[in-house]
Formats: sequence, structure tokens, C-alpha cells
Amino acid sequence: GQCVAVCPTGALTEQDNTWMVLDALVAPGKTVVVQTAPAVRAALGEEFGLPPGTLVTGKMVAALRQLGFKYVFDTDFAADLTIMEEGTELLDRLKRHLEGDATVKLPILTSCCPGWVKFFEHQFPELIDIPSTAKSPQQMFGAVAKNYFAKQLGIDRKDLVVVSVMPCLAKKYECSRPEFSTDGDPDVNISISTRELAQLIRHANIDFNMLADEEFDHPLGESTGAGVIFGTTGGVIEAAVRTAYEVFTGQPLPRVDFDVLRGMEGIRCATIDFAGTPIHIGIAHGLGHARRLLEEIKAGVSSYHAIEIMACPGGCIGGGGQPYHHGNVEVLKKRAAALYREDANKCIRKSHENPYVMALYQQFLGKPCGELSHQLLHTHYFDRKGSSLVE
Ligand code: SF4
Repeated sequence: GQCVAVCPTGALTEQDNTWMVLDALVAPGKTVVVQTAPAVRAALGEEFGLPPGTLVTGKMVAALRQLGFKYVFDTDFAADLTIMEEGTELLDRLKRHLEGDATVKLPILTSCCPGWVKFFEHQFPELIDIPSTAKSPQQMFGAVAKNYFAKQLGIDRKDLVVVSVMPCLAKKYECSRPEFSTDGDPDVNISISTRELAQLIRHANIDFNMLADEEFDHPLGESTGAGVIFGTTGGVIEAAVRTAYEVFTGQPLPRVDFDVLRGMEGIRCATIDFAGTPIHIGIAHGLGHARRLLEEIKAGVSSYHAIEIMACPGGCIGGGGQPYHHGNVEVLKKRAAALYREDANKCIRKSHENPYVMALYQQFLGKPCGELSHQLLHTHYFDRKGSSLVE
């Protein structure tokens, strides 16, 4: 018989879900929408012979429309939403800590990477109340699409099919976690990788490089520069700092770019001055590096207030679903530079200034970390110590 290696995050047995997308696109009575993660636009072009670091955002949107998606949306929108939720959680813990509350859990850890979430559930279950409870942008998008956008369209959530294009193979597993389904209907129905999207484009005989740029649809396609940089190591925490600084200090940032948080070293740290309050930030990419920071927390010697952790070296730009980079760090640096370029070219670069995110809070969610936000945009973790890696 065939021997199949099984990996908890789906990273070893690569599933091909392109046929599920094609089935959904031709299914009668279904409205099919797609969300694209930030890192995809910085690497998809490589599948079509373009040099690493070529931004293909507009061509990618055009190709997705040609493939038949009714609405082409952006996970970056949900990344801005993640910052609103995670940033609020960070500030809440920080304020209580500064007021002397000894019960408050710090550092807060980012929670947008399912590879990392699965890792701490198995390896550091004693720390499961430390990570932010904010869902990943992929799942926040799914929750908003199924509980808000479907209503706007006047259709049942089961008739809305949400497809995600991710740089990641662990995102397929994330979609299948039971807590991200309602009555058997997953918030994100199908997740495909950047390489699978390239395959769909080739199979449809779309001449990718000749496509004219197109724009994402509204309302779930509008994002800020902060949402874009989620795709690279250090980007999530930089996005969080941009918002947390302004909310905490009540002052506009003197400079939006935080060069101290950028780079490719496996573990980085920086202290950011929140108008007199020093905030210690840690960053780790690659789970070996993450483990070192977690051991410090466990030993009670961690001095960080917030830590960003990504399972893949380089963050999502180096994800398992991206075009192969064969361990070439120069390729990763070019992809990261492409995201920082897209960020710099955006008119709005802070999540709390995204007008569509603000409108969503006003019209539907209420306030960040409020009752409905908590119900739809937050999650919980499981102690999986000793349980099988395969579920
Ligand atoms: Fe997926 Fe890797 Fe990004 Fe984590 S860092 S979300 S495993 S691509």
C-alpha cells in the first residue's frame, strides 16, 4: 500500500483543493467569494516567471475575477480587524499591569499563525492563557463574511462559499478546527495555497502577465499598509504598535515605519517608547526560535510585553504554500521588501484608520473586544499535551 506521512498542520501531505474550488464556482445557488492573504501578492508572480519581489496585487485580483469569483476580497481587511482586537487586548493587559495588577498575563503573544498555535497547544499547554485570543485574519474574515456579509446580500450563510488563498498549508487545517464552524458550516470553506492558485490560473489558460491591474471589491477588500505587512516577520507587531501607540498616548506617531522591528534575524527585540513608557517587544520566526522565548516565559525571566511568533522562517512570505524558494534568504528579503513597498504606497497605514473597519464596528460589531466582537472574532485554545499530533 501507499505510505503516507501525516503532519498535524498538513505541511507534509500536501492536499490539492483546486477541484473543490472549481466545484464551488459552478455549483448552482452559491455565491463564491475569495480572500487573499498579504504574502500571496509578493510571491505569486514567481510562478509566472516574474522576479522575486514583484508585486502582482492587481493582476491577482484580475485573475481571480476571471476565474469566476463573485467578490474578490482581501485578508488584509481582516488583518486590520485583528489589530483592532489584538491591540485592544494588549492595551488592556498593559494598563492593568502598569496599575500594579499582578494577575495580568504578559507578554501577550500573537495568535495569527496556526502552525504556531498548534505548537504551543502541544508543547507549552501551561502557557495557553498567554496568547491573544484574537482569531487569525483568515478566520476573522470568514466570521465576518458568514455572519455579516451574507446578511447584507440577503442569503443564507450556507449559500456563501468562502475560499481563501494562503501562503500556508497549516491554514487548511485551521479551517477544519471545529470551533471555526457553525452548525457544520465552516466560516472558511476552502483554503488553497499560492501554488494552487497558480495552478488554477494555468489550467484556465489565463495569460497572467498580460492582465491589467484590477482593484479589490468593497467593503471587505479595503486595507491599510498595516494589514499588508502582516505577511512578513515583524509585520504583525509593527502593525499592532502603530495602533497601540496612538491609542495609548493619544498622540499621532512621529514616524509610521519601525525599522527596529524589521529584518531576518531569527530572534529580534526592540524597546519602543510610548511617550515615556518603554514597551519591550520580541519577535521570533521559526519554531526553534519561538521555543527559546517560550522557555524564558516559563522560567519567569521574560521581560517582554508583547511577542510576535511565526512558524515559518521569514513569516508567511516563506510559508509552505508559497512558490519554492529553496532556502534562499535573498528571495525572502525581496518578498518582504515588496510588502513594505506596498505599505509605503498606501494612503492609510494604520489599522484604526481603515474607514471600512470603522464602519463595520459602527454598523455591526460595536466596539473592539465588545460582546459581539468577542463572540465572532475571538477563540480559545486547547491543552493537547500527550494527545496525538494527528486528529
Ligand atoms: Fe502559515 Fe507559516 Fe504564515 Fe504560520 S508563518 S501562518 S504556518 S505561512
